[in-house]
Amino acid sequence: METIRGLKLRVTGMVQGVGFRPHVYTLAVSESLRGYVYNDSEGVTIVVEGDGSALQRFMERFHNELPPLARIDTCDKTEVAAEGFAAFEIRHSDAEAQKGAAVSPDMAICDNCLAEMRDPADRRKDYWLINCTDCGPRYTITETVPYDRCNTSMKRFTMCPECAAEYQDPTDRRYHAQPVSCYACGPKLYLLRDGERREGEAALEGCVEALKGGEIVAVKGLGGFHLMCDATDEGAVQRLRERKHRPSKPFAVMFPTLEAAEAAAEMSRAEAALIASKERPVVLVRARENALAPSVAPGIDRLGIFLPYTPLHYRLFENIDVPLVATSANLSDEPILRGDDELFEKLGGVVDAVLSHERAIVNACDDSVMQMLGTIPLMLRLARGFAPYTMTLPFETSKKILAVGANQKNAIALAFGNRLVVSPHIGDLDSVEAFEYFERTLETFRRFYDFEPDLIVCDKHPGYAATQWARSQEKPRLEVQHHYAHLLAGMAEHRIEEEVLGFAFDGTGYGDDGTIWGGEVFLADTRSYERVFTLRPFRLLGGEKAVREPRRVALALLFERYALEELLNLELPTLRAFEAEEIRMLHAAWQRGVNAPLCSSMGRLFDAVASLAGISQRVSYEGESGLLLEAHASDADAEPFAVGLENGEIDWGAMLETLAAGTFTAETVASRFIATLAEVMVVVSRRYGRRVLLSGGVFQNRTLLERVRTRFDLEGIDYLLPSQFPVNDGCIALGQLWYALKR
Ligand SMILES: [Zn+2]
Ligand SMILES: [Zn+2]
Repeated sequence: METIRGLKLRVTGMVQGVGFRPHVYTLAVSESLRGYVYNDSEGVTIVVEGDGSALQRFMERFHNELPPLARIDTCDKTEVAAEGFAAFEIRHSDAEAQKGAAVSPDMAICDNCLAEMRDPADRRKDYWLINCTDCGPRYTITETVPYDRCNTSMKRFTMCPECAAEYQDPTDRRYHAQPVSCYACGPKLYLLRDGERREGEAALEGCVEALKGGEIVAVKGLGGFHLMCDATDEGAVQRLRERKHRPSKPFAVMFPTLEAAEAAAEMSRAEAALIASKERPVVLVRARENALAPSVAPGIDRLGIFLPYTPLHYRLFENIDVPLVATSANLSDEPILRGDDELFEKLGGVVDAVLSHERAIVNACDDSVMQMLGTIPLMLRLARGFAPYTMTLPFETSKKILAVGANQKNAIALAFGNRLVVSPHIGDLDSVEAFEYFERTLETFRRFYDFEPDLIVCDKHPGYAATQWARSQEKPRLEVQHHYAHLLAGMAEHRIEEEVLGFAFDGTGYGDDGTIWGGEVFLADTRSYERVFTLRPFRLLGGEKAVREPRRVALALLFERYALEELLNLELPTLRAFEAEEIRMLHAAWQRGVNAPLCSSMGRLFDAVASLAGISQRVSYEGESGLLLEAHASDADAEPFAVGLENGEIDWGAMLETLAAGTFTAETVASRFIATLAEVMVVVSRRYGRRVLLSGGVFQNRTLLERVRTRFDLEGIDYLLPSQFPVNDGCIALGQLWYALKR
């Protein structure tokens, strides 16, 4: 007879609200082990006892057969004395003990639920809100923790006996699935159209009819509404653009299946896998010509595509066989809308119909956006499926720290104990609505984690709403330079301790000297940085106006190099975009430095080159000229322009002269400019011989990244960039937090 031994496991990571305890229960019972499992304040505690070989099998299966949404960060195992338990049980956890538990992200419908939804014999056949422990809403329906039904927006729906039985059975795949429901007990689906309300199947039919007729319909998703219309109907897409006042920013498109998506976009196997992953992000891929209405992504060869992720999406596509534009329902850059009332208030004039249901969205959450660099997935917007992003730190912090992020693509991050949490994407904090969303998110995390910060970290920019908020709090505060925070985010993700050579290229960030930075090269570690190279500065004619008019940026570069009369004789697309009189007026303003702040922004240099190439003179959204340049940069072997690299300055003067002296096609200018930046990075990297770190919105440019990767690989330069977190300003909060943690 073998001796009975005992084991105690303490597990952290994504282990609560993801079916972890029933999974452990099933494993333990199948190995005839006794003991118990319960949720504790940091994760899950398991005590098992039985004979040695059963314990060994249990441990192997425990690590190899995780539930789909679970992730183990740490697992402490200790031998304990056997107590002689009679059975294995799931023990009730007390609410207070779970205050620190991770709130998990929402997840796309799983294969089991999809199969049930399509099974004529199943009681949930066609049920548009079907979900289980492995799938469905989490964060977006959670009011507070612990994650129990009474703390979610499902609390007003009393489970029917059948749902309740599933919910209480540890062997059922809906054991403690908080949003569980069915036709008998769940929220109702309805369509509001032409002043009528239709429910259930009639609502779906009406929605399909509207979409087929070219109408614009708001459809409730997990974290908010989408505005949907037929992506092959040019009239419908144009109507959406006009009504939303969104002239050219590309729309994301939802395809019924991966096969349908492949007809409209070229994608690698890695890209297809990412699109079909359980997180279902929007993935930017290369568009095929003429597959969709031209207004979906005008002038751009990239397309953001994704697959259905809620049962309701699948039900829609059963009845409509075309791809659908699916863009976040909001007004220009305001946050995504989550309730019927605010939808009608803001978008009453935009939508023809609304398909909604009675399960309230407590916390809004946008779609995540990603792209692949070869086989590396790069996060562009951290949201549904990934956020709230929780990680276990390799150390404990004695302080509770809050980092409030940047102004564009804002997200917040917090640290307490050995836990670090990054919020979903909040957005640009330019409107009152967006700032309210920022405050609401702060409040949500305060409630989830009983979190009252001892220290607040923010950007140095006095104009950032998040910085102003931080400065108004009577709390100890740290301010971190924007581009340093970009690099710190990369150090946090990759746990880099040594000094790196960091390229922080982006649109705008507040520099230590009060000017606008954005083309910066730092020698940096987690404690300090030294600015070793910067883009030769130039003036932004008209300040903010220059951001919307690439021609103004190009003109400022020309002013730096040419006398006014000399300039007026040049033949350049930039100059043709102005009247001669305008040029004289702007020159006078430039000479006096009136409303013409200095900047060293790489994003603006992209604007200038796009103007000089005749590609774009005015833009309607952030990053547009970069995307347009990419669309033109077809020559992967293009010759770089000459650029000066003296006295810590990346001097674009020689490049400007070459451009002004010759006649080039837009394709040549775009391709050679991308090659130039990659070459600058190679030369500077060789000079310092350190590991290289890339961060900043400019590195969302895949053509540039691919060129840099090719050149760096060839030169044997070791480099990293954030990939689980955005390279754009979405990573700033993480960088700020990391600085405070490492101090
Ligand atoms: Zn499921
Ligand atoms: Zn039910």
